[in-house]
Amino acid sequence: MNMVGQQRKDHVAFLPARKAWRFACLALLVSLLLVVATPVLVRAESGISVLKSKAEADFPLKLTFSLSAGSNVDITEVRLRYMVDQVSFARVISETFIELKPAPEVDVSWTWDMRKTGGLPTGAGLKYWWVIKDAAGNKLETPPLQFQFDDDRYTWRHLTQGKVTIYWYRGDESFARELMEAAQDALIKLALDTGAVLEKPVKLYIYANSQDMRGAMIFPQEWTGGVAFTRFNTIAIGISTSQVTWGKGAIIHELAHQVIHQFTLNPFSGLPVWLDEGLATYSEGPNESYRALVQKAANEDRLISVRSLSSPFSAYAEQSYLSYAESRSLIEFLLTYYGQAKMLRLLTAFREGSTYDQALQQVYGFDMDGLYKLWRDSISKQTSRLPGIPLAAFAFAGAAGLLLGIGLAVRR
Ligand SMILES: [Zn+2]
Repeated sequence: MNMVGQQRKDHVAFLPARKAWRFACLALLVSLLLVVATPVLVRAESGISVLKSKAEADFPLKLTFSLSAGSNVDITEVRLRYMVDQVSFARVISETFIELKPAPEVDVSWTWDMRKTGGLPTGAGLKYWWVIKDAAGNKLETPPLQFQFDDDRYTWRHLTQGKVTIYWYRGDESFARELMEAAQDALIKLALDTGAVLEKPVKLYIYANSQDMRGAMIFPQEWTGGVAFTRFNTIAIGISTSQVTWGKGAIIHELAHQVIHQFTLNPFSGLPVWLDEGLATYSEGPNESYRALVQKAANEDRLISVRSLSSPFSAYAEQSYLSYAESRSLIEFLLTYYGQAKMLRLLTAFREGSTYDQALQQVYGFDMDGLYKLWRDSISKQTSRLPGIPLAAFAFAGAAGLLLGIGLAVRR
């Protein structure tokens, strides 16, 4: 059973609208055949021999495994087994029976068509091996071979600091260093806001633009600017050298997802989307247009409830944008009025597998409906007290100043 498609969870960052439409009409026809041959010669006492075994990647669409094997009697059965390197609570081994006509020497292959299963991110690793049987009842299981599904359309350079490695191919080293600094600052700020820290190394693939990045994806959406493959501890973002400011925001957003997912990982339940996206969006820093959007929706009595925001956001742009804005505002509300220690307790409750309502109730004493009411009241109070200049803005400015001070202190 292949679990890759089901287990992959993507998070996306929006492109600036002007950039997004520019790429909408571009067809992604880039495909490069990578051939990574792994010659092995295994002769078992049984009499079954492996003459050739290899995996070939047609990134990002396909992965073809092929085998030549022989025996002194007919080979009757060949099975391919593979295991993708990803964060999982179960050891998932996929197995495929290969169709063959029994013969003393067989050449077989099987193609993993990722258009049917969902793809693997750049740099994903897997192990594969063969189980071969012959007519005399002999069985040979080959040793596992490691394969890396690299995006070899580009020549990648890399830069590592702490648990973050940036891979990039366009722009000089100062470009990568600037992005790395943003990533490191984001980790400090996130630890201050939530107490959560990066536990496992993260690979950050910086494509030269969104078009290049979408060439690495099976079903790219035209507005996708960045993706966090949280089960693979991998992030892919398209950032041109002229787009560094946007790029830093996208890195901060996706890195926040990665930290939160590593911290809350458990086999029982996931996170409510408003918490996940809210923390990622909040990490990016103040956002005046999001704030205005929430105020406007509150004034027009069309805020989306916290319960609704716990499920995946609307596919409609306007509702989706409001969902991100509200999620950010909810995090700001929780951090401003209840502080970091409770946020850490909330994330810990999710790590222990609590349901959405249970986790909130346990830490704050209210459930999702209670949170919605309190937060909505705070928004309307801000509107009536200081039209156009909400109280939370001051609170946030103060918090941001404090964070900056602490952040600088830590960096020294
Ligand atoms: Zn996100």
